[in-house]
Amino acid sequence: MNIDQTVAAAIAALNLGEHISFDALTQAIEHQRGRRIQVSELKELGEYDGLCALLFYAQDRDLILHAHSDSQLHTQQFILHEFAHIILGHCDDDGTSHDLSALDGLLPDIPASVRSRALARSDLTSEQEIAAESLADILAARIRGSAFADTSYTEIFG
Ligand SMILES: [Zn+2]
Repeated sequence: MNIDQTVAAAIAALNLGEHISFDALTQAIEHQRGRRIQVSELKELGEYDGLCALLFYAQDRDLILHAHSDSQLHTQQFILHEFAHIILGHCDDDGTSHDLSALDGLLPDIPASVRSRALARSDLTSEQEIAAESLADILAARIRGSAFADTSYTEIFG
C-alpha cells in the first residue's frame, strides 16, 4: 500500500463521521485500542531540540506530552500527529533519533524503556512521519469542518 492508501484505510477503520469533535476522535481511538489516552502539556519540551510532542506507550495507557503553543491549532496539530502514529500502529519500532536524556529530570515517572516517539518539526522525512502528518491533516480538516458547521448553525439560527 502506498501512503495515501494506508491513511485512507486507517480512517475507514476508525468509523468516524465526516465531521468529528476532538473528544469523539479521542474516544474512537481509545475504543479501538482498548486503552486510555492521556494528553498533557510539558512546557519545557519546546526548549529541547525543537520538540513539539512526545508519544509514550506505557503499560496501561498511551501518553502524549506536547510543548506549549499560544496557538490552539498548533497544539491540536501536535496532538493529532501523535494520534496518527497511534492509529497507524507505529508502536513497535523506536522512531526517535532525538537525545532525550536532557528531559530525564522532567519525566521522573516514565522509565526510558517505554519512551517511543518524539516529534520535531524537522522530522517529517520518513515514510511513517509523512503518513502521520497526512493523517493528522485529514483529522484536523474534519474537526475544523465540524467546528465551522457549528458556527454557521449558530449564526443562521441563533
Ligand atoms: Zn511523528
